[in-house]
Amino acid sequence: MGIQQIEVYHVVLNNKEPFRIATGVTTEIRNVVVKIVTDYGVIGWGESSPSQRVTGENAETVIKTLDKIAPKLIGKCPLCIERDVELMDSIVKENPAAKAAVDIALHDILGKTARKPLFMLLGGYCTEVLTDLTLSIKTPKEMAKDAQKAVKRGFKAIKVKIGIKPTEDVERIRLIREAVGNIIQLRIDANQGWTPKQAIEALNKMAKFNIQFAEQPVPAENMRGLIEVRKNSPIPIMADESVHSPEDALRLIQAEAIDFINIKLMKSGGILKGRKIADVAEAAGIPCMIGCMAESEIGIAAGAHLAAAVKNIQYADLDSNLFLKETLVKEGGTEVKNSMRTFPKQNGLGIQTLDEQLLGKPKKLYK
Ligand SMILES: [Mg+2]
Repeated sequence: MGIQQIEVYHVVLNNKEPFRIATGVTTEIRNVVVKIVTDYGVIGWGESSPSQRVTGENAETVIKTLDKIAPKLIGKCPLCIERDVELMDSIVKENPAAKAAVDIALHDILGKTARKPLFMLLGGYCTEVLTDLTLSIKTPKEMAKDAQKAVKRGFKAIKVKIGIKPTEDVERIRLIREAVGNIIQLRIDANQGWTPKQAIEALNKMAKFNIQFAEQPVPAENMRGLIEVRKNSPIPIMADESVHSPEDALRLIQAEAIDFINIKLMKSGGILKGRKIADVAEAAGIPCMIGCMAESEIGIAAGAHLAAAVKNIQYADLDSNLFLKETLVKEGGTEVKNSMRTFPKQNGLGIQTLDEQLLGKPKKLYK
């Protein structure tokens, strides 16, 4: 039982409209898709959606990293994921988004080999996952309208991107809460956009609008700032950019810097280590969310399977494919209805057919 062939594809997708967060605007997505073929006929799909700002990766560095990793994986057991991840880590130190593509494809193979949907194999805690929809930064009024549209589409939770100007950010939240009423869950993400002082002021002003948690109020490397904000904030603090690995999670938990962690497969290097972050956090009583970068349906399915499997992943922000103009997965993958991501009956990630034109020819092939 071995890995026979690895194919690497470069996929360019477009956003339906420009998506703005505190650190920049995105219009075009450049992801890398990995197909792993085994010598017993099972194939697995994986995806990398690199973020230059968060892990310093882009499609080119992912392809370069895979060029170092893939040849060494040929002949290895696809089900020995712990060992395969160890091998990847011994070849390149960082580059988690590149490794995530391989890790996700291996988990797809695991599910297909065991003939079970992946979430059932990883713990099977629930059969569907409530996801929010994220609002891109616009004027407060425009965002309030977008929030209403999201509720009309059935979303029960909304994540609001802020982190620009604190007074305007407070106005954004005020108008959005007014527009959607009190039952919709609201969470906010400043994407490192505030100073600790700005964060403390803004969060205290926003507390009355019933906010579940505030993601990454200050820059990732400013742990002291994070601790200070957490101490003085009426709204619980979630780490995103500050936590990539289980080791980061442990460090921030020990420093009492956070209340929640946002796990992203592109930061952790895939499902295996994403799970380890959730486990470290669970031992400390810190609930987790699963988030995303700009994955298409493949990466999103991977996040959804992990979230459904694991008790301590209590929140989900799995919406990136909904912002894309193109649909890479023509058949299969997860679906969203009334805020819930549901799973097909198929095994593994449940990815059935891909749009061959979007996928194109492999950029690299290893065997
Ligand atoms: Mg975030």
